Amino acid sequence: MAIRAIKGINDILPDVVGKWQLVESVARRIFSKFGYQEIRIPILEKTELFSRSIGESTDIVEKEMYTFPDRNGQLLTLRPEATASVVRAFIQHKLHLQPAMRKFYTMGPMFRHERPQKGRYRQFHQINVEVFAMDDPMVDAEVIYMLLVFLEELKIPRIKLHLNSMGCPDCRLPFRQSLADYLEGVRDKLCSDCQRRRLSNPLRIFDCKVDSCGKLVDKAPVLLNHLCRECEKNFQSVKDHLDSLAVAYTIDPFMVRGLDYYNRTTFEAITPLLGAQDAVGGGGRYDGLMKMLGGPDLPATGFAIGMERLILLLDDKAGALKDSNRLFVACLGEEAKKKGFPLVQQLRLSGLTVEMDYESKSLKAQMRRADKLEATHVLILGDDELAKGVATMRNMEASTQEEIPLEGLVEQLLRRLQ
Ligand SMILES: [Zn+2]
Ligand SMILES: [Zn+2]
Repeated sequence: MAIRAIKGINDILPDVVGKWQLVESVARRIFSKFGYQEIRIPILEKTELFSRSIGESTDIVEKEMYTFPDRNGQLLTLRPEATASVVRAFIQHKLHLQPAMRKFYTMGPMFRHERPQKGRYRQFHQINVEVFAMDDPMVDAEVIYMLLVFLEELKIPRIKLHLNSMGCPDCRLPFRQSLADYLEGVRDKLCSDCQRRRLSNPLRIFDCKVDSCGKLVDKAPVLLNHLCRECEKNFQSVKDHLDSLAVAYTIDPFMVRGLDYYNRTTFEAITPLLGAQDAVGGGGRYDGLMKMLGGPDLPATGFAIGMERLILLLDDKAGALKDSNRLFVACLGEEAKKKGFPLVQQLRLSGLTVEMDYESKSLKAQMRRADKLEATHVLILGDDELAKGVATMRNMEASTQEEIPLEGLVEQLLRRLQ
């Protein structure tokens, strides 16, 4: 039996890869305008990096990570997200000493052992943006603004921005108590996970995927009403800066994001077109993470974009081949093939997009392939043509045909097709 790919881990075939390339190129273009530099981080890390950063009692760490011992018995994990690795790299290479390196983006595959569903897979792809050592609320607003500019550039429809504040340790501690008190009152109705996490990490009930817990969440106290003065002021400032950029937003006190490390402003870009999994991208501030991972005590913020979901939202024609000319060289007979082969290379080096047939098929078969490849022009080289010292050029769109002398053929083709 033929071997198939692992469930939830997919190939990306050439007929859709144009969309991926479009998303990647728009990300590179927009982010670099905002002063971001690309960083490439490993796919495999020590398990400890994720259990410490994401939080031991999160769904990701408890249930979803691909973790295994390598041949030396060291516990490794396929990265379930990128932020922890970027922070680890920043610490490891002492980038805080290099003021030119503060704003990063990275893109690539992540791995979580979730139930595969439309737009959500076990190998999925993210674009991540991280900013370090900047805690001005203006930076939060700019990061959010850049996310929206990026989605706008890709013409993603009906995007709404949801905002929340996760406070700081000062306001979180008393809030945790009032949430724990509430959960104590409804403990019998909680799912078994939430019963267990009620004491260790009560905030996690906000992203529990069990329906009955969702109903309890609606009545739970929210952190937004328990912010300390400083966090309140900070959140107001982020909102003011967003106002100055004419960015509309909805305050969503129930949005807590699935990771433990967030604080203060968090956000999601939502579209109703995705159904229940409605966030295209989201993120927030995570000021304590760098210190927690053994680095300097520097603030940080950022976001992640789910590429699969983004691609579902792209227009069908997005990333399609550009309207430039594509030439197919159809050779009939061995002599013509011998002459055509170096000609094709020469035309490619001259800047044209050129394909040929290597298998000595009939003209009809070659024309069919040219059509499939969406060639705009076909150059026919046959024995008749060679004898006359010409090649026949067919314009596929106009359905016209002309003879071009072999002498000076390259120049003639460049003049017509470039
Ligand atoms: Zn606070
Ligand atoms: Zn639950």
